[in-house]
Amino acid sequence: MPSTFTHEFNTSAFKAKVSFSTGLFINGQFLDGSDNTTIDVINPTNGKVVTSVSEGTAKDVDLAVDAAHTAFDTTWGLHAPGAQRSILMSKLVALMEKNADELAALEALDNGKTFNWARNVDVAGAIDCIRYYAGWADKVTGQVQETTEDKLTYTRHEPIGVVGQIIPWNFPLLMMAWKLGPALACGNTIVLKPSEFTPLTAIRMCHLINEAGFPPGVVNVLTGYGHTAGNAISSHMKVEKVAFTGSTLVGRKIMEAAARSNLKNVTLELGGKSPNIIFEDADIEQAVNWAAFGIFWNHGQTCCAGSRIYVQEGIYDEFLKRFTEKTRSLKVGDPFAPDTFQGPQVSEVQFNRIMSYIESGKAAGAKVEIGGERHGTEGYFIKPTIFTNVDPSMKIVQEEIFGPVGVVIKFKDEDDVIKQANDTVYGLAAAVFTQNLNRAINTAHRLKAGTAWINCVNSLHSNVPFGGFKQSGIGRELGEYALSNYTAVKAVHINLGHRM
Ligand code: NAD
Repeated sequence: MPSTFTHEFNTSAFKAKVSFSTGLFINGQFLDGSDNTTIDVINPTNGKVVTSVSEGTAKDVDLAVDAAHTAFDTTWGLHAPGAQRSILMSKLVALMEKNADELAALEALDNGKTFNWARNVDVAGAIDCIRYYAGWADKVTGQVQETTEDKLTYTRHEPIGVVGQIIPWNFPLLMMAWKLGPALACGNTIVLKPSEFTPLTAIRMCHLINEAGFPPGVVNVLTGYGHTAGNAISSHMKVEKVAFTGSTLVGRKIMEAAARSNLKNVTLELGGKSPNIIFEDADIEQAVNWAAFGIFWNHGQTCCAGSRIYVQEGIYDEFLKRFTEKTRSLKVGDPFAPDTFQGPQVSEVQFNRIMSYIESGKAAGAKVEIGGERHGTEGYFIKPTIFTNVDPSMKIVQEEIFGPVGVVIKFKDEDDVIKQANDTVYGLAAAVFTQNLNRAINTAHRLKAGTAWINCVNSLHSNVPFGGFKQSGIGRELGEYALSNYTAVKAVHINLGHRM
C-alpha cells in the first residue's frame, strides 16, 4: 500500500488538513513502486522531511506505458471525440479551481515559493492553460489540400500515441499543465515524470484527474529519479514522443536516448541566461522594478530570468543605486507570510550550486553590490545578490545560475549591447527597456531569443508560444504552435476518377 501524505496547514493564507495517497499513478490507480522504495520530500525552509512518495523505476515505466497504450487503443486517441476530451478537461479545470488554495499551499511547502505567487501565477496559470487547451480539443482537425475533378487530398492531424513528459521543479504544477494541456487536447495518452524534488502537486493532480472521470491509463504519473525513471521514459521503445523541460545538460541526454532507442520525436525547453537591456531613455523607475522582478522572481529559479542586466552608460550609476535599493527592500523568508517576496531555494543541492557560483564570482574579482551570502541559519535561503565589475568570460556572466544572482553590465550603444547580449549559448528570452519605439522594435528583432519583451519581463500567456533559440531548446510550447508537438500529420489521397 502506498503511503498517505497528511499535513495540517495552519497559516494565515491557508488552514486545512490535507491528506492523499502518494503512490505511482498507473492505469488510474495509486501503486507502490515495483522495488518498494520511496523518495523523501524535503521542506526547503528547514531541510526536514515532509513525507515520502513511491519511487518509480524502469519496470514501473513499462507498466505505465502499457496502460497508456491500452487507453490509447480503446478509450482515448481516435476513440474519444474532441468534444468529449474537452468536457473532461473542463471538469479538471473546475476541480483545480475548487482546490486552488490547496494546490498553492502544496507548491509553497514542497518548492518553497510563496503561497501568493503560487496561487496567483502557478495555479492560476495552470488552470488557464488547461482551460485554453480544452478549447482546442474539438478544433484539431486537418486541411483540405487538393480538390480537383479527379482528386481529393486532405490531411488528418492524428494524435501521436503514448507520449513521455519529463518536467522540472521550478514551476511543478505549471509545467505539468503546459505538458498535459496540448497532449490531451490532441488525444495522446501520457506517461509523465515530475521532478524528484517537487512531486506533491503532480500527485494531487492525479486524484483530480480520476475525480474528473478521465479513463484509466490516459494520464500516468511516476515519481522517480531522472537517471532511472526519466531515462526509462526517454529511451522507451513504445513511447513515440518525449517532451522535456529542464537543464540543457539533461536535454542533451534525452535527445541521445531518443536517438539510440526508437528515434522518438523530441521537444526540449531548456535553460537560459537572458539579457535585460535598459537604454538611457527608459522610464527608470519601471526599468528598476521590472529588472528586480526579472531576476529575483521565483528566487531566480526561472528559465527566462533576466540574469544579465545591461544598462546604458548615461544612467548606469543612477540605475545601480536604485536597483540596489529595490533589491534591499525584497523580503526574504517564510513562503506563507503575506509580505514575503522570496522563499528558500528548492533544495540543498541547488543552494550549494548557487553559493559556489557566488564564490566563483567573488574569486574572479567581481564586486558584490548587495547580498552574496545565505539568509538566516536554517533552510536554503540566499540573499538577493547583484554583481558588478564583471567581464564576459566569468562563469557568473556565461552560465545559468538558476538562483537570485544577477550581473549588471555597462554598455555604450545599440551595436555594443546586441553583440554582448547575443554572446551566450542560450537564446530563451530577452527584454528591452526604452521609450523609443523604433529602438525597441529594432533591438527586439536583432536579439537571438525565442521571446523578446519590450518594457516588461517574464510575461507568459497560454495562447502565446514559448521556447528557445540556440541551446535553449527545440520546439515551442503554448499557443496553437504546441499542438504540432502532439499531432502526426497524415495525408489522405482519394482518387475520384483517374484510371490507369
Ligand atoms: P534537470 O534537467 O536537472 O531535471 C529536469 C527533469 O529531468 C527532472 O524531472 C529530472 O528528474 C529529469 N532527469 C534528470 N536526469 C535525467 C535523465 N538522464 N534522463 C531523463 N530525465 C532526467 O532540471 P531541473 O534542475 O529540474 O530544472 C532546472 C532547469 O530547467 C533549468 O536549466 C531551467 O532553465 C530549465 N527550465 C526551462 C524551462 C523552459 O521552458 N525553457 C522552464 C523551466 C525550467
